Amino acid sequence: MSHVKGHMSNVIMIDLSISQAHEGLKNKKFSSVDLTQAYLDRIKELDSKLNTYVTVTGDFALEKAKKIDEAGDFSSPLAGIPMSLKDVVCTAGIKTTASSKILENFVPPYNAHVADRLFDAGAVLLGKANTDEFTHGSSTETSYFGTSKNPWNTDCVPGGSSGGSASQVAADLATYSIGTDTGGSIRQPASLCSCVGLKVTYGRVPRHGVMPYASSFDTIGPLTKTVEDAALVLQAIAGRSEKDATTPNVPVPNYSDSLKTDLKGVKIGIPKEYFQEGVEEETIKVINDGIEVMKKLGAEVIDVSLPLTKYSIPTYYLLAKSEASTNLARYDGIKYGHTTDSAKKLTEIYMKSRSEGFGDEVKRAIMIGTYALSAGYYDAFYLKAAKVRALMKKEFEEAFAKCDVLVTPTSPFPAFKIGEKADDPLAMYMADILTTAVNLAGICAMSIPAGFSSGGLPIGMQIMANQYKEENLFHAGHAFEQATEWRIKKPNL
Ligand code: GLN
Repeated sequence: MSHVKGHMSNVIMIDLSISQAHEGLKNKKFSSVDLTQAYLDRIKELDSKLNTYVTVTGDFALEKAKKIDEAGDFSSPLAGIPMSLKDVVCTAGIKTTASSKILENFVPPYNAHVADRLFDAGAVLLGKANTDEFTHGSSTETSYFGTSKNPWNTDCVPGGSSGGSASQVAADLATYSIGTDTGGSIRQPASLCSCVGLKVTYGRVPRHGVMPYASSFDTIGPLTKTVEDAALVLQAIAGRSEKDATTPNVPVPNYSDSLKTDLKGVKIGIPKEYFQEGVEEETIKVINDGIEVMKKLGAEVIDVSLPLTKYSIPTYYLLAKSEASTNLARYDGIKYGHTTDSAKKLTEIYMKSRSEGFGDEVKRAIMIGTYALSAGYYDAFYLKAAKVRALMKKEFEEAFAKCDVLVTPTSPFPAFKIGEKADDPLAMYMADILTTAVNLAGICAMSIPAGFSSGGLPIGMQIMANQYKEENLFHAGHAFEQATEWRIKKPNL
């Protein structure tokens, strides 16, 4: 039982969605301190098993919760709600590591803009979530702080790179978490852990203060328990910022208005390339069953084709790793982060600090990217991939002229065993075959729980919409979620 008000147990409180917890706080069923303490207890009990938090900010959280309770202002739906931030989102005075040895002790002097927006809305920060190193990966296995575990089967990965965040939301270690998605890093772990993961349109949420992977791909978005919650969080973080020139002045609609329970008049496109070889049959069956549910809700389903899908993995990895190689140049052992103690010359400081501080996947990015960008290869690789990217964007535009959303699986397979793909980068890259095209085109997409494999592992459905059409995702996603029971299923921990 919770220690103060006493009528609501910890177990019930931490299961609540943002909107449910908000009702509880507003109606004084429990306080933000109660709720925060319930999460901190849960983290203490479970996180040694799941390894999802790099840093737990217990005192900071309780202090904020107390302030919120004292002010008693619950006009913001996020006020007093405990959450986490992926450990690439800078937080003033709180360690932000990118799950890398090179930033093991890095304490940023300022907050990322997205963190400021959430703190202003009353968010209570429980801590920083584990990720693949600098978000390079699909399993959290590249984290310097060890792999996070999938709550549905702790022998399996939670997906990545926002795997700490997804595992937390699925295991009730946070009400919601903020992740980043460059090639699938919010949607794929959401799919593998059974939660909602929203990849916003490129430019919808300001990136200031969030450590970059590939700047023309990176997006920031929520992992939540429900579609409604994703809409609530996006409402607080979306929109133009003076601090990020890639956020245009596109109006931010009232996202909650799009949460409807039927799909009458909605046109859903099914791109056949997302249901082909490489995607497990069980996954395809779950998504096809989901499409039937959507038809019953009134949707009109049409076939579409995106033939360039087969180029998305090589195109994405070439461009993303190229951008990453330049973004990672700032870690030089001097400005911030790990400095070698065995260098005698300046160049040795650079080389040794980077050799000691970066892990294998990040080094691979630097090598692939530097090679692809080098004089003489630029036209053959980078420029060619950039052209393919432009064509893929056009292909999506043509599809969205015919339908409101596209529906596909999120991941070609459910959660895989820890270690199964860790030594085979190409096999790991294939985990992203269904997510990267969305980032190449800069459109938005969301993964929502859609069922389970025969082995009891979650399977997510990906819904895609055109640029700045997040409302369409919320509409289709909410209607599907309300008509099914997947959200209610809980891992046995
Ligand atoms: N797995 C992909 C990669 O390593 C995507 C990562 C991401 O979205 N941050 O590039």
